[in-house]
Amino acid sequence: MENWVEKDLEYIWHPCSQMKDYEELNPIVINKGEGVYLYDIEGNRYLDVISSWWCNLLGHCNPKINQAVKKQIDELEHVIFANFTHTEAIKLCERLSKLLPEGLCKFNFTDNGSSAIEAAMKVSFQYHQQTGNPQKTKFMALTDAYHGETIGALSAGDCDLYTKLYKPILMDIKKIQAPDCFRCPYGKGRNNCDCKCFEHAEKAFKKYGNETAAMLVEPLLQGSAGMKIYPPLYLKKLREICDKYNVHLLADEIATGFGRTGKMFAFNHANVSPDIMCLSKGLTGGYMPMALFVTTKKIYDAFYADYNTGKAFMHSHTYSGNPLACSAANAVLDILEDGSVLKKAQENALYFNNIINDKFLNHKNVGEVRHIGLINAIELVKDKSTKEPFDGKLRTGYQIYKKALKRGLILRPLGDVIYFNPPLIIDKNAMDYAVETAFECLNEVLPD
Ligand SMILES: *Cc1c(COP(=O)(O)O)cnc(C)c1O
Repeated sequence: MENWVEKDLEYIWHPCSQMKDYEELNPIVINKGEGVYLYDIEGNRYLDVISSWWCNLLGHCNPKINQAVKKQIDELEHVIFANFTHTEAIKLCERLSKLLPEGLCKFNFTDNGSSAIEAAMKVSFQYHQQTGNPQKTKFMALTDAYHGETIGALSAGDCDLYTKLYKPILMDIKKIQAPDCFRCPYGKGRNNCDCKCFEHAEKAFKKYGNETAAMLVEPLLQGSAGMKIYPPLYLKKLREICDKYNVHLLADEIATGFGRTGKMFAFNHANVSPDIMCLSKGLTGGYMPMALFVTTKKIYDAFYADYNTGKAFMHSHTYSGNPLACSAANAVLDILEDGSVLKKAQENALYFNNIINDKFLNHKNVGEVRHIGLINAIELVKDKSTKEPFDGKLRTGYQIYKKALKRGLILRPLGDVIYFNPPLIIDKNAMDYAVETAFECLNEVLPD
């Protein structure tokens, strides 16, 4: 048999990895996916409880999505999307516009989440340039935010692990102190608060609102920060203050879209609409790299004029609106449209959260279990009463990750936050296995 691992390590530079770690923990060569499971070339099975970086929505090699992509590839694999179009993209946008929060109806395609964020920031900036507010050249975002890895998206982010080193080359984006419901400085709980922490946003808008084009936000769930969850009221307040200062509310639903939070989109929980929304990850069911931003007719109209006015949005990506990706996305909507998958996922979300609470809550190093939809996060702490975290250098989460892999469970904690973010189709057996196994691994690393 060929030595795939050796060859991998010779040629491949893996994402978000210290490659030296791979000496001890070799890359796992996967050659088959089915439902919530992945299989390696030796036939070992892994439960993909993180949806392969949060994108796999409806299981690996979902028969309906496979069928749709196979059909599409024999008809049209790709076409330039300027001046040309195709039926899969048109169908997709029409269907999405009916599911999205009210007012979002003009779609612009990119090929990854970070690029959708960049395009959305550019469109917001240009809108204000073309509507008599040339002073609006700034952006705001929350502390602990994550919006992607390209320079502009990284500038809007605030997770030190990814941004700190690059500060000298990043844009200066104002960061507003984000809600922190686990360590709430006002002593409130997640479900009994009136978002007193919004005072930080008020101060920032007062100071920078008039120069600001858009406020970026990961609605309800700051994913990369460790699945930090905050209440919908915060989004409602953001909507109000953005209106007051003529600032676009830019929703990054790349991680939260398509049922991850229990509703189709996280903004549905707040019953307000953003001005611009970015989607990716679950959009194609995790099949293809595709992303988009969608915005309002009001914003679109500010670009609509005779060519020589120079008002067009001159932004493009080679693979904009790729037909294969659109066919996968349409198949995702075929599956989600009647609501039964989301309904079942909601029922399972209750079950999942219950068994996780039962298992983990009393462990001496579990600071909090938090959940939204099927996403559950367990924050490990050194001291339960003071919520003091572990020294990051101990890599506690990573030790648990390695143990879980040996038992066929893919956890990939964010620092010392162990989380589950499974495909929506996960069943009770798989949930039981995930919880049981994760708990065993936790106890091996941190005996109770
Ligand atoms: C993954 C993610 C991105 C970036 O998407 P990429 O496709 O990885 O560039 C941006 N925002 C959020 C909230 C994400 O989870």
